Amino acid sequence: MTKDKTLTPLFQQYYGLKEAFPDCLVLMQCGDFYEAYGEDAKIFARDLEIVLTAKDGGGGQKIPMAGIPLQSLDYYLRGLVNKGHRVAVAEQTANPAECKGLVPREVTRIVTAGTILDLQVLDEKDHNYLIYIFIVKDKLGLAAADVSTGDLLGSEFESNSEQVVEEILRFRPAEIIFSGDINCEDGHNLRERLQAQLKDVSIVEYAFKLNFSEANELLKREFFLVSLDGLGFANLHSSVIALAGMLDYIKKLSFKHKIPFKLPKLLSYRGNLILDMTTRRNLELVETLLGRERKGSLLEAIDKTCTSMGARKLKDLLLRPLTDIDSIRARHDQCEILVEAGELRRQLREELKSFIDIERLLARVSYGTFNARELLGVGLSLTHTDRLSEIVSSLNDVVFTDMALQLENDREGYHYLSDFLEKAINPEAPLSLREGNIIRDGYNAQLDELRSLKNDGKMWISRLEERERESTGIKNLKVGYNSVFGYYIEVTKSNIKSVPVYYTRRQTLVGSERYIIPELKEHEVKVLGAEEQIKKLEYNLFQDLRQIVARHSSILRRLADIVAYLDVICSFAQIAQERCWVRPQMVERACVDIVEGRHPVVERVLGEFVPNDCHLQEDSPLIILTGPNMSGKSTWLRQVAEIAILAQMGSFVPARSAKLSVFDRIFTRVGASDDLHLGQSTFMVEMNETANIVNNATSKSLVILDEIGRGTSTFDGLAIAQSVVEYLHDGAKPLTLFATHFHELTKLGRTLKGCRNFRVAVKELPEEVVFLHKIVPGGADRSYGIYVAKLAGMPEALLKRSEALLKKMESNSRRFNKVNQEDVEDLFGQ
Ligand code: ADP
Ligand code: MG
Repeated sequence: MTKDKTLTPLFQQYYGLKEAFPDCLVLMQCGDFYEAYGEDAKIFARDLEIVLTAKDGGGGQKIPMAGIPLQSLDYYLRGLVNKGHRVAVAEQTANPAECKGLVPREVTRIVTAGTILDLQVLDEKDHNYLIYIFIVKDKLGLAAADVSTGDLLGSEFESNSEQVVEEILRFRPAEIIFSGDINCEDGHNLRERLQAQLKDVSIVEYAFKLNFSEANELLKREFFLVSLDGLGFANLHSSVIALAGMLDYIKKLSFKHKIPFKLPKLLSYRGNLILDMTTRRNLELVETLLGRERKGSLLEAIDKTCTSMGARKLKDLLLRPLTDIDSIRARHDQCEILVEAGELRRQLREELKSFIDIERLLARVSYGTFNARELLGVGLSLTHTDRLSEIVSSLNDVVFTDMALQLENDREGYHYLSDFLEKAINPEAPLSLREGNIIRDGYNAQLDELRSLKNDGKMWISRLEERERESTGIKNLKVGYNSVFGYYIEVTKSNIKSVPVYYTRRQTLVGSERYIIPELKEHEVKVLGAEEQIKKLEYNLFQDLRQIVARHSSILRRLADIVAYLDVICSFAQIAQERCWVRPQMVERACVDIVEGRHPVVERVLGEFVPNDCHLQEDSPLIILTGPNMSGKSTWLRQVAEIAILAQMGSFVPARSAKLSVFDRIFTRVGASDDLHLGQSTFMVEMNETANIVNNATSKSLVILDEIGRGTSTFDGLAIAQSVVEYLHDGAKPLTLFATHFHELTKLGRTLKGCRNFRVAVKELPEEVVFLHKIVPGGADRSYGIYVAKLAGMPEALLKRSEALLKKMESNSRRFNKVNQEDVEDLFGQ
């Protein structure tokens, strides 16, 4: 299309940009509007629901056009990015008034879901990750970046590793980039799996040509390091390339703006409790199974953070609990200190509430997409650092002492910056940067002078008006201003005869005439000049401020980290105190010893929650739990797993007391949820998940099996369920809780050495059954299905009929049992 010489220069320019950014929609600034043409215009009109018009493209051809006002750019970008588009924004790079021909335009940034910084799009309590995958031969380098917070993580896998998908899904990425050997089999498979799981996420290819040593150099330069080994990346070549590729990709999108990234961190699996996707979903750790909402999740139930930095940190910790017993104990120590220091904690939380999202602001400082009020917010946050440091230093723990030291070290910087911002920014600065009035009076002498010139100008005008009224005798003479003619003197038609000769007529209106005089013109030049200069100067001063804040980014980052971590520990302590949670005792040998445990989420929605114990250890690692539907089996299973997770995050737990070993993984197989979107049957999903458990569980794992073998015929299901229990019992011996409504399986509790039976207690009254939600030793011998049916409101006659049928079936089965005694005994493992 660029070759099309019949097009006007403007369109040639537009299509030139299109050619340079083929995978983007292009928005080009035309004066007060951003416009898109041709196919892009149609997409804009459709996805943003704006009017599609047309513009003369030269040679009489009409080209579709869609436009949005300059100041609404962010709003529309949001919409486009949420629909999965990548948008290149081209701006005028010179003042049109000073250009002879076509205004030069350049793409100044590309906005994508993974790189957007707009606070309206970003969830304040969550990260926004961009994932970069680099594949070479059998290795896969993974990098994850949150441009909005500056977090950068790297890791390396075998290219056919199952864990990669898991890891990527854990990030819930907004955008994924593939580079390297993308068309190899593993790359292809990975891409397909990600596409199936992350339907709305755009997956793009990116050609990055650097080899390992070049990539290594790039990172060293970027982070001022002599070597990356200290960060843990020694020998992780593909990971280093992925990190470098990521930075390169982001740089290409952000052009001149430099994102201030934190030092890359190595994602390590050895240091974390592994919670795979199934487990995260089943336990509803960060979102509910059904609505996929935060509300109702464990995360929401334990979130008492006061800042968005803390909220994001809490989520990180929940998804990656620790496995190092000393680190876990250290967090419990910190939590304990804050539980006990009630009044200090209250004050600390009060202070924390004053901190704005410094972490997210830093990225936007480098883009310049932030406003004066936010800078005021930074300044205000900084005034709370002294008090923060004071409180922290009075808490007796190394972590807190280190924080206090850090705060003390950076103190001067905080003071300098907050004083500076206070002096520089007008406390009533408007939200928009375009309106001016950002810089405070008294900050810059030149600005003050220009402002007084402008203000004096107003006085001067009213004096002139006064003087002219007197000298001409025209009482209603007025001095006014409009953007076309500038300043003028307006006289109504009835007074025209009194107008002096030195007035020059400029404009005739219906009831009046407008004049100018030389004096007024001179004044106009001066005032307008001042206004223009004020604008320029304010802009420059604001840019300087931005530079100053950017130069303090490392102390601000350190502060953000401290605030986030403190906030999380405070939140742990707050919850522990409000809800009577206790410090778990962490032990080396496999063990779960929970006395009067409660479910952290269910406890809150129910008026009365029945607490329950759970005891598992090396020599009796398995419990089979039977009980009717709706009696509380699943709740109990989940509560044990969630207590273990909370403990390993460093939190206290909902129980009277808890002794726990450190788990390496928690596996769950809960309920019969359909993974319909993957096109697999319930039973297939169930078997996949179960296979994963029996293949990967170790003696340090915790396994939660809830109703396995349900999705097939009774005998099939029983057979599979029993062999899974036996396999775990005879093999890896993970601590295992197994809930089942097959009361036949209670036989195992009597035959397997390490296996015990428990049931949910039920009180049978003559006319009804009461579920006590109490877990007690022993197996259930019936299912109470008909009672549940009754509770659900089935008609009396129907219930009577099913009771009669049940009796008949049970006696039939007894007869059948006698006949086939041998077969059945074989099946249930005598
Ligand atoms: P099951 O798995 O046995 O079918 P659930 O664990 O799903 O039963 O629990 C069913 C309902 O019973 C829960 O939604 C909750 O309202 C209630 N419940 C479960 N456990 C308890 C408990 N310990 N105390 C009080 N109510 C409970
Ligand atoms: Mg259940």
